[in-house]
Amino acid sequence: MAEPGKVYLVGAGPGDPGLLTLKGQRCLAEADLVLYDGLVNSLILRHSRAEAERTCRVDTGRGKRLDQSAINDQLIEAARAGKTVVRLKGGDPFIFGRGSEEAAALAEAGIPFEVIPGITAATAAAEYAGISLTHRDLASAVAFITGHENPGKPAQALDYEQLSRFSGTLVFYMGLHRLPQIAAALVEHGRSSTTPVAVISRGTTPQQRTITGTLDDIAEKVRNAALHAPSLIIVGECVLQRDRINWFESLPLFGVSIGITRPPGQADEVIDLVLSRGGEPVLMPTMAIRPIRDWSEVDAKLDQIGEFDWIVFTSVNAVDAVFGRLWKRGGDARQLGSGRIACIGPATAERLERFGVRADLVPEVYRGEALADSLAPHVKGKRVLWPRANRGRDVLPEGLTTAGAIYEEVIVYEHQDLDAAPVSVLERIDGSALDWVALGSPAVARQVADWLAGRDVANTRFAAISPVTEQAALEAGLNVDAVATEHTWAGLIRAIEETVTQGRSR
Ligand code: SAH
Repeated sequence: MAEPGKVYLVGAGPGDPGLLTLKGQRCLAEADLVLYDGLVNSLILRHSRAEAERTCRVDTGRGKRLDQSAINDQLIEAARAGKTVVRLKGGDPFIFGRGSEEAAALAEAGIPFEVIPGITAATAAAEYAGISLTHRDLASAVAFITGHENPGKPAQALDYEQLSRFSGTLVFYMGLHRLPQIAAALVEHGRSSTTPVAVISRGTTPQQRTITGTLDDIAEKVRNAALHAPSLIIVGECVLQRDRINWFESLPLFGVSIGITRPPGQADEVIDLVLSRGGEPVLMPTMAIRPIRDWSEVDAKLDQIGEFDWIVFTSVNAVDAVFGRLWKRGGDARQLGSGRIACIGPATAERLERFGVRADLVPEVYRGEALADSLAPHVKGKRVLWPRANRGRDVLPEGLTTAGAIYEEVIVYEHQDLDAAPVSVLERIDGSALDWVALGSPAVARQVADWLAGRDVANTRFAAISPVTEQAALEAGLNVDAVATEHTWAGLIRAIEETVTQGRSR
């Protein structure tokens, strides 16, 4: 029998994918199988290359319905087959998470396991709503309480009389649907009806909403606001501090969803950027990047790589492909010899730095034309190599040839169009729940227009990375509401942010 694998019960945090621990991230990178529950933000899965399966105990149509013992069995079975398994749970695995039941089942089955704590919803959602649960002057204790039990039920485990007398902050998990009964029971047992209450829905995500009131009126306010689960109820004076330190809901892109059309693997930086501004990145890659199957032509160029005067990189993929191949063949960057390197923009140059190589030339404007122009004075009679994708614009070869270069190219990776937008993205567009789509190139603009043909996109706005992309979008029938002045993804997000903030202040 195979050596048993190991199961990691990992807390994914409450929603913001940045609130995963470093240890959790490392486990995900090593996993062969990831089972994640309904509260986990799927953006966290980008840390893993493993097969990932969503589990849910109730039928939501959004995952595989499994009861707890079936989940336990699947963890045990996968570990027995030698796999490294991550069981990813919303918030902290043991706080109202049944993680301890899974741990007990693993222990009983003799499967090695570890528990990686996560940031639980109470502290995280409160902090993202500007509330300190144990503010020094207002609360010297905090209680985490399940709101799942019916306070009217005689056999309940919770003693509302004691809870009402508790001289600290009360935080109810899973209580949204029982909010009227919970508030009434606290008042009935002596808590003042003017006690401040906050209900935080979808805390730490761009959809976070916070409603504040008192034990008296909170149920009605929440009903009127139509808040969604998951929500937390926070009862106590500390809620009053919120107005002063409500930082998250004031971020510039808070609540704004942005379709990111970059291929997976190249989207990390822009995902982090959008999140850091309070926005919601929605992944909608228009193509997949595939390695080439036959490396013989690349190898032929690499055999003479030191003889080129210039090597030109126009994407991080090309950098990865060339340096990856050099390394695989047993070589390294030294084989480039004294050849000089040009990059189309800062992202490509930065990727090059990871391989210990500095770019000699990066044009001020990050476009093919500008790159060809800045190279032109240097390339007459020189050997220039462009490791490229199977597709792309031809301005570079034309410009270099006109400038008298001895131009050569080799395909080092492939683009493959995806035929349709992800269903989840189309659903959001149809439901007016995607605010922006960021278009990173003319080809992407055309592809997105193609995907959305015949749909009502009146509530989705489009942003273009450059005037060339804007032109392509307009020609394909998309309205463009923002154009980047710096033609990078950071510039593109900034253009969206400027348009959003102008709209808000108007
Ligand atoms: N293990 C989780 C809790 C699971 S119980 C943790 O440690 O956070 C599920 C309850 O957690 C929900 O009913 C809700 O009360 C709370 N919850 C989880 N994520 C939340 C979020 N993003 N915002 C508000 N409440 C959340």
